[in-house]
Amino acid sequence: MTRVPPLDNRLSIEKSDANRRGLTCKNPLRAKANVPASLRRKSPPRLPELSEFDVVRHYTRLSRLNFSVDTHFYPLGSCTMKYNPRFNEEAAALEGFAALHPLAHDSCAQGTLELIYDLSVRLNELCGMDAITLQPAAGAHSEFTGLLVAKAYFESKGETRSEIIVPDSAHGTNPATASMVGFNTVNIASKPDGRLDVEELKKHIGSKTAVLMMTVPNTLGIFESNIEEVCRAAHEAGALVYMDGANLNALIGMVKPGELGIDLMHLNFHKTFSTPHGGGGPGAGAIAVKSRLAPFLPVPLIKKEGDKYASDFGDGRSIGKVKAFFGNTGVLVKAYAYLLAHSAKELGEIAACSIINANYLRSLLKDVYPSYSGEYCMHECVLVPGPDMTAKGLKTLDVAKGLLDRGFHAPTIYFPNIVHEAIMIEPTETESKETLDEFVAAMKDVHDEGIADPQKLKDAPHTLPVRRLDEVQAARQPNLRW
Ligand SMILES: *Cc1c(COP(=O)(O)O)cnc(C)c1O
Repeated sequence: MTRVPPLDNRLSIEKSDANRRGLTCKNPLRAKANVPASLRRKSPPRLPELSEFDVVRHYTRLSRLNFSVDTHFYPLGSCTMKYNPRFNEEAAALEGFAALHPLAHDSCAQGTLELIYDLSVRLNELCGMDAITLQPAAGAHSEFTGLLVAKAYFESKGETRSEIIVPDSAHGTNPATASMVGFNTVNIASKPDGRLDVEELKKHIGSKTAVLMMTVPNTLGIFESNIEEVCRAAHEAGALVYMDGANLNALIGMVKPGELGIDLMHLNFHKTFSTPHGGGGPGAGAIAVKSRLAPFLPVPLIKKEGDKYASDFGDGRSIGKVKAFFGNTGVLVKAYAYLLAHSAKELGEIAACSIINANYLRSLLKDVYPSYSGEYCMHECVLVPGPDMTAKGLKTLDVAKGLLDRGFHAPTIYFPNIVHEAIMIEPTETESKETLDEFVAAMKDVHDEGIADPQKLKDAPHTLPVRRLDEVQAARQPNLRW
């Protein structure tokens, strides 16, 4: 278990000591000389006065208070916080990619164009799709792009379709995107087993439906086993089927969405393809489509002429650009390196391991934290506190806080919101059996402590610098001032 460093909660300014310096500017007056007197401050800024060592230790200590994927198992569901090989960062940093001027002429950017072209070919193949744009910057941005493409497609056929059907097991960004693009959202309740209710769907789908947006696997971590029937029903109504494929690591190399009847789908490079999610850096998304939607994709795409690669601006039906140049190409380089490092068979093993790991946790925990659906899951499982915990008034939040004391980042909690007291765990394909076993032991220890001494668990965490915070107030009235 990682030890939290000795507690020193003081702010840097509280550690300040007059005239202590880390760095002295040689001639501060020279900079001052050009600033008009009226703009100069009357008194010096109130900055902490610290030695270089004080500063280094202050920030290093703060950084060690973080839970991160480099320091802790990080089982957030719906986010895929997996280990991403550092090696791929090296590839992205290669000068030929990293230092390429974005306005370089195609003839001077052949390597990057070839990479994006070949990555597109490989992704189309993996998804069973015909064309793809790698321009979007993220998952939600891809959804936005995808619905603009769908809108342009229907407009080109002279059809006005105003509705998007979104099952309640879809990711929250799906209905948000639908309304951003100006569609009305029609919500469909799932069946008790967490799957889409096909009869309900058939009642709502019709000539007004533009797109059915499905998250696969859905936010309960369940594969929509009747997806082919669902796609047929949508197509009979003249609608398109959109797949939110942010979590393709559960399907990659095993299922080609295009073969199931999906018309357009998105990918999250910062979940599946070797860029950290939630790291604050750039991400990338993609929209892959069947050929009838290809003319509407953002431009430029890339075409191959002989052995040369060139920007392809299409035939004028494109929705236009959604991101400067070719998107966040550094992220694309990492995805390409990742794909090249895995054979087709190994890609299938990624999906298999992500599913096996989630089911391993689900089955070891089921006696104390029953799973929502009680059946096999895909890459993530949704659990709830068992009846013995509920009887003592213990909640999911208490479990999450208890885990922090045991050196684990909490799983996603209270999402998906269709499950009361949800605990959503995604171990990812990159964690070892030993780590999963330690996590199971910690989850059981939290349970046992809760049963033996409920108040103690309700007061957790006990080992971190701050105890139970009022998270609602912190979000509504953040106090950012010292
Ligand atoms: C993460 C996620 C998204 C949104 O992706 P961002 O890159 O965070 O915008 C959409 N759908 C699903 C299923 C996701 O897991």
